[in-house]
Amino acid sequence: MQIAKTPEAALARLLRGNARYVAGENLNEHKDPSRRTELAGQQNPFAQVFGCADSRVPAEVVFDQGLGDLFVIRNAGHIVDSSVLGSIEFGIEALNIPLTLVLGHTSCGAVGATITAIDTHSTPSGYLRDVVERISPAVFEARRDPDAGYDDVVVENVRHTVTAIRQKSAVVDRAITEGRTAIVGAIYNLEEGTVTPVHTEGTVTEG
Ligand SMILES: [Zn+2]
Repeated sequence: MQIAKTPEAALARLLRGNARYVAGENLNEHKDPSRRTELAGQQNPFAQVFGCADSRVPAEVVFDQGLGDLFVIRNAGHIVDSSVLGSIEFGIEALNIPLTLVLGHTSCGAVGATITAIDTHSTPSGYLRDVVERISPAVFEARRDPDAGYDDVVVENVRHTVTAIRQKSAVVDRAITEGRTAIVGAIYNLEEGTVTPVHTEGTVTEG
């Protein structure tokens, strides 16, 4: 199969895979011993996914992809820290990946924990505090609209992650400016299985 190396081709390939998954028509390609052997010496993933660690949102499953297709980074609430930025920069610079998809989802527990912490004026113990502190700005931003609910905060948290990656990483910003890569934020719907783009940094031509 032709390896997609433009942002739009990569996004289209991801969304086609998601449509197969939603319809229950998975190809289940690239999971066999021959693929494993073929990839033992090198990898050439067509996209990277930075998503929530939630057990219900595994990137390879919801996009119907297999070995060697996706470079995947996940943590609770897809919060941006130095290790995440280093991984994304590796994907773009070392692997020439043209698209980073930030994948949030409905009913995100990390977002819910942050809303609870803010509304009850409480602070989680241990390192969960770090997760909540990094998601908090998205809650305040979303609530500039007084009618904003849980799902609006989920969308804002995705948008916040996308813009933070570009703002914090000069390497990513340069690659986007040069048109070598783009970042798309999207929401996965837990009931429907659908992935819907909500924000883009860079140029992803429709088509
Ligand atoms: Zn989540």
